[in-house]
Amino acid sequence: MSSSVSVANEGGIAIVTIDNPPVNALSFHVREPLMQALIALRDDASVAAIVIACAGRTFVAGADITEFGKPVRQPDLRAIVATLEAIAKPTVAAIHGTAFGGGLELALGCHFRVADQGAKLGLPEVKLGLLPGGGGTVRLPRLVGAAKALKMIVSGTPIGADEAHGAGLVDAVFAGDLSTRAVNFVREIARKGGPFTPVRDRDELLRGTDLAAFDAEAADLAGKARGLEAPMACVQAVRNAVTLPFDEALAAERALFAKLVASDQSRAQRHLFFAEREAAKLPGNVVKRRIARVGVIGAGTMGGGIAMAFANGGFPVTLLETSQEALRRGLATIEKNYAVSVARRSLSEDAKRQRLGQFKGSIDHADLADCDLIIEAAFEDMAVKKEIFGKLDAVAKPGAILATNTSYLDIDEIAASTSRPQDVLGLHFFSPANVMKLLEIVRAQKTAPDALATVVDLARRIGKVAVVVGVCHGFVGNRMLAARGSELEALLLEGAAPTQIDKAFTDFGWPMGPFQMGDLAGLDIGWRNRKARGLTAVIADTLCEQGRFGQKTGRGFYLYENGSRTPVPDPEVEALIRDKAAEKGIAPRTISADELIERTLYPLVNEGAKILEEGIAARASDIDVVWVNGYGFPVGKGGPMFWAGLEGGARIVERLEYWHERTGKDVFKPAPLLKRMAETGSWEAGSTAGIRG
Ligand code: NAD
Repeated sequence: MSSSVSVANEGGIAIVTIDNPPVNALSFHVREPLMQALIALRDDASVAAIVIACAGRTFVAGADITEFGKPVRQPDLRAIVATLEAIAKPTVAAIHGTAFGGGLELALGCHFRVADQGAKLGLPEVKLGLLPGGGGTVRLPRLVGAAKALKMIVSGTPIGADEAHGAGLVDAVFAGDLSTRAVNFVREIARKGGPFTPVRDRDELLRGTDLAAFDAEAADLAGKARGLEAPMACVQAVRNAVTLPFDEALAAERALFAKLVASDQSRAQRHLFFAEREAAKLPGNVVKRRIARVGVIGAGTMGGGIAMAFANGGFPVTLLETSQEALRRGLATIEKNYAVSVARRSLSEDAKRQRLGQFKGSIDHADLADCDLIIEAAFEDMAVKKEIFGKLDAVAKPGAILATNTSYLDIDEIAASTSRPQDVLGLHFFSPANVMKLLEIVRAQKTAPDALATVVDLARRIGKVAVVVGVCHGFVGNRMLAARGSELEALLLEGAAPTQIDKAFTDFGWPMGPFQMGDLAGLDIGWRNRKARGLTAVIADTLCEQGRFGQKTGRGFYLYENGSRTPVPDPEVEALIRDKAAEKGIAPRTISADELIERTLYPLVNEGAKILEEGIAARASDIDVVWVNGYGFPVGKGGPMFWAGLEGGARIVERLEYWHERTGKDVFKPAPLLKRMAETGSWEAGSTAGIRG
């Protein structure tokens, strides 16, 4: 028998142990011996009951997703669960760590489930654009009811052992020595001769389902799915569990799974799953620096959020401002943000107190001397940053990592204002920094490998998705954002309304369009940026001159009435656009949705290709991670570079060339790498470049 599955016998109770590090995924080399073991134990009269357990740090944490999309090798999970469920002696799953996806579906094949106190159980397949395809949608509702199952399956969010016990998913929760407790649990049932009923035959709960309430909930979920197919397939599958006989519902689940697994959306979501893990890997193995205390300079929008992100991750934080008044304001905002979390019940009063206890305020740079990492989040001004880094150079301890949260500035220049450029790098957080997952880690020319490795590891510890990028104006995200927006003014002048452009974006799957986003972020930011660089944007500049900065002033590209965040189209803005177009002698025309995509998203992809060519990003998939986690690129399309593959590189190049010929604008000039991708269908050529250091 394979070493990945072993069987022990404790006085007539068989213990099947799966051992497939690191997470006991149900790979083919586990499934085959597991099936053989189950058949042997089923037929062995000396075995009274069976425990299924796992070695290592977790129960089966899921299917082996590297097998998705390939021909299925038998026995598949469904066959194993069917065999397990048909065994006419009591079976129990002993769950520790995480029973996710296929792991939980395996456990649902047992008559009982017992769990360690710290265990987590869930069906997260929806996050990969799938549904649980091993009977999970049909069995889970039989244990916890259709409403609860719907919530678990559509959200993909796991629940803890106690909640699972309360819901009926788990039969007992134990603290410590799970294996012995599981053996005793099932021995007692075997001794009494039952009762033990296969989950498939337990439909008492389903009979009480309020289908009208279920459908109302499902309609609500459909509204939130924003074009994703998987959540809707999950809804259908759970509904089938209620309305169809078991075997028919199971077959329908299978059909839905087969459709999803072959879909572009699921391929895109699986791509992102691997891309996020890949992005956090650095070549080589260096000893990381120890980070115990973090310093943050500036308690404004970003500094406050960054400080919260570290306090939430358990780090003590020294927060530095220029005056007691600014410090007081910054700390008050932090306190208010935590109070909102308490009011929303996502944070306890105790946790709030504990987190606030992590902060130490100061207006004296010398107080940063005991910090191991110092992040500057002061004004976006090179002179300000250089002055701050000069002071840091004088007070920071040797080996402290000195980071800047700059959005655009040259980090090599900032590093050069210190005597220790090897310790300087960029940590580009996104607003609000305590919420947004993305962290662009900017490697400057002289950044030391161990400093880089330290912050990559730290990012994970504070729950961020990290992507390492190189130095250029705007790094990966903001540089590509500029390319995406480069034609917006021209499109307005040629006849597309802000509402039309925003709708094309939301139809594509973005949470909002570029004008809604501009109004949300504040139009004054771009205005200031343009003025500093000697650039103009006739419509946006005029709006700013009129004091229309977006949501914060109640007016921008849209109107926001009485403090509402709902954008209302404004005839004044439409008139302004018409006037400016007339001044320039541009006759308005009807612009198709295709053209809007070609002139915004194709330049986005093209800029991504240039970034790869220049070695500013190491992999095309890193760019996808940036755009999905930081800018709302639809997950179902896998990020701009993955989407380019779906759209077809050849088409993108052809249309870019068309627009380049018509406008002469650089954003449309196809990058050589994009042309190569159009020929080969892959971005591979870019992946060997590495980050330019
Ligand atoms: P902000 O104006 O809200 O806050 C800046 C804070 O820094 C102010 O409270 C100011 O008093 C303080 N400050 C200025 N000089 C200081 C000094 N010498 N020592 C200590 N404190 C000082 O600005 P923000 O939006 O938080 O931006 C901060 C930085 O983060 C900028 O470099 C910006 O480009 C970058 N950034 C901003 C965003 C965003 O969405 N706002 C996103 C990513 C990065």
